Amino acid sequence: MKRRNILKGLTLLPLANGFVAKAATALGTKSAPAAAAPKRDFFKELGVTPVINAGVTMTFLSGSLMLPEVLEAINSTCHDFANMYELQDKVGAKIAEMLHVEAAMVTSGAACAMLLGTAAAITGTDAAKIKMLPNHPGPRPEVIMQKTHRYLFDQAVTTTGAKIIEVEGPAEMKQAINKNTVMALFFNAADKSSITHEEFVSIAKQNNIPTFLDAAADVPPVENLFKFQKIGFDLVTFSGGKMIRGPQSAGLLFGRKDLIAAARLNHSPHEAPIGRPMKVNKEEMFGMYAALKAYLERDHKKEWEDWLQRTKYIGNKLETVQTVKTQTVVDPGPANAFPSLQVTWDPNKIKIKADDVLTALKNGTPSIVANRRGDSLIVGVVLLRPDQLDIVAGRVKEILQKAVAV
Ligand SMILES: *Cc1c(COP(=O)(O)O)cnc(C)c1O
Repeated sequence: MKRRNILKGLTLLPLANGFVAKAATALGTKSAPAAAAPKRDFFKELGVTPVINAGVTMTFLSGSLMLPEVLEAINSTCHDFANMYELQDKVGAKIAEMLHVEAAMVTSGAACAMLLGTAAAITGTDAAKIKMLPNHPGPRPEVIMQKTHRYLFDQAVTTTGAKIIEVEGPAEMKQAINKNTVMALFFNAADKSSITHEEFVSIAKQNNIPTFLDAAADVPPVENLFKFQKIGFDLVTFSGGKMIRGPQSAGLLFGRKDLIAAARLNHSPHEAPIGRPMKVNKEEMFGMYAALKAYLERDHKKEWEDWLQRTKYIGNKLETVQTVKTQTVVDPGPANAFPSLQVTWDPNKIKIKADDVLTALKNGTPSIVANRRGDSLIVGVVLLRPDQLDIVAGRVKEILQKAVAV
């Protein structure tokens, strides 16, 4: 939810000359695609402002930047047709093998995975039921959630026609289960839980209710891709277009074989089911596979070190402005659990508020999106291309310098 505080309404300014990247620093050159100068500049052609994301992955900012491996998977496969059922089989089997689960599929995102998981829990493989969703005859199917886990994304659950039953504590959860209960949903990044992961799974299992865990933004650490199936969740989702850096319009749904089979029946390429409008084509499937493989094979320790070097690099530049202090902060997670740079200054010496720094960054050229926490500025480093470190450091420094009281 925190990601939503951030910026409402980007001002769209035509960008004069694009921007010339300063000499790329040696930092983290492996972790981001190089900024190849395109022959045809589509941003310019359409007057769209390119944005530097010194924040976290956000859908309104187009998620994350796909890795070269992902673009290669997309570009090298787009010249041939493929039978989508076969591709789903093969990609799903490979992803399942990589994540140590029975089955997996590529969805159009974690929200789609939530909808398909719920649909699967309602219909199973029953063709008549699949055809009817979201107008399920009889009482509405029920999905159990902890009261403190309710969030904006649970509309993806109720879109299937299901309703959400809120519970607090294990006893209430047990009591709430009845013949209309189809699933129990756990929001992994919820601030508070009155039922632990283990209790949640155990109560559901005793009652034969499938469990679904939404961990959309919860890598790093990479271990989270394996953790929740081990605890016993029947279905788990992660966004493809956040820190896994696959296509923004892709996500992972994995877990129990029968439920994935049912989810697939509720999805494209079938012509009419509830998931058809959330089509995933082969480019996203190959791309998601390549992104996951690259993510699992990455040197995560080195990547973390690169991020720390980035905060240090930018921090050192900013601290040349009087009274500016910087500190590397790591979000405790589970969502967005990675280092950023916190920047503070003496407001008597530098006469600008963090909010106004954000506005100046946003309205400048190139446009830069960062965050704040209270009165301090939070500069995200994990989504910056290597050549953008100097740009971001330079612009923040310039803005603070200009506000120094004389
Ligand atoms: C981002 C997010 C979603 C939606 O994911 P998409 O891949 O954009 O569909 C769902 N739940 C949580 C917790 C998220 O952070």
